[in-house]
Amino acid sequence: MEEQIVGGQWQRRHVLTLSDFTDLEYEMAIQTAASFREVLTRRNRKVPALQGKVVANLFFEPSTRTRNSFELASKRLSADTVNFSPGHSSLSKGETILDTARTFWAMGTDLMIIRHRQAGVPQAIAREMDRMSQGKVGILNAGDGQHAHPTQALLDLFALCTHLNSADPHPKLLAGKKILIVGDILHSRVARSNIWSLKAAGADLHLVGPPTLLPKTFATYGVPLHWQLDDALPGTDFIMTLRLQQERMEGHLLPSLREYHQQYGMTRDRLQRCHPNVKILHPGPVNRGVELSSDLMEDAALSLIEQQVTSGVAVRMALLYLMGGGRLPD
Ligand code: ASP
Repeated sequence: MEEQIVGGQWQRRHVLTLSDFTDLEYEMAIQTAASFREVLTRRNRKVPALQGKVVANLFFEPSTRTRNSFELASKRLSADTVNFSPGHSSLSKGETILDTARTFWAMGTDLMIIRHRQAGVPQAIAREMDRMSQGKVGILNAGDGQHAHPTQALLDLFALCTHLNSADPHPKLLAGKKILIVGDILHSRVARSNIWSLKAAGADLHLVGPPTLLPKTFATYGVPLHWQLDDALPGTDFIMTLRLQQERMEGHLLPSLREYHQQYGMTRDRLQRCHPNVKILHPGPVNRGVELSSDLMEDAALSLIEQQVTSGVAVRMALLYLMGGGRLPD
């Protein structure tokens, strides 16, 4: 396993966005994740790669998948993990976010995983940690506001590549594949991160949504925009559906959930207009019957949703390993 990983040298201390990720970094993340996916199939699914390191999960916003996936990834790498959630913390006593981060630093944390409802918080903590620790603490963005969710996009990339070639997953397998990101793009950090990674992989990427949730300003990403889903379907290889983020919607951005489903929801009828091998993805949590009909979600021949969740642990192990300067035994 080590041979595959040490081919390049990982330089990036913090993973806050994918906007400046290089092809080599994508490759290293995917190849390292592939090695860890193999580890996860063994009887002993733990490796001592981060033994003695401390990983802190600082989730200022609720999360099920991402938080548990990071925690499991840290444990599989034998790191010591500490968890923070605002409800049971000194934040309720007036402590600032930077003070919270400083407290975890003082306890000897090596890697901090940050989720916050406001964009920019992981960057602010990274700056503060650089100042305090002289570059010894790595920050991983686990989702900040509408800005970025790099590990979600990397796990989506990994799920797509392993679907296309499970023995040798590589980002360039997606070159020329037609991919639609459909739905609430305006509020989606997942979409914003996926745009960078899928463009870097050379995919034929299209954004689709109602005009209120896909403003024309998204044209600056240099990918086609569609306001009618049915026009965009022909030839599509992968459809990435997004959750309608009602908690982030102010005002009436949608007529009704039923109408949304009629116009933008994924159904068997619509899939018939795509490439015959089309597959559906969703980052979760799903609003069943809104973004896609329930039966599609559970149809293993059509959905890669379960593979996305499984990929999450391997991809997060890979990033923690690369950022933590992990060592594997000879
Ligand atoms: N779980 C993803 C996120 O944290 C997607 C979502 O919540 O809709 O952004």
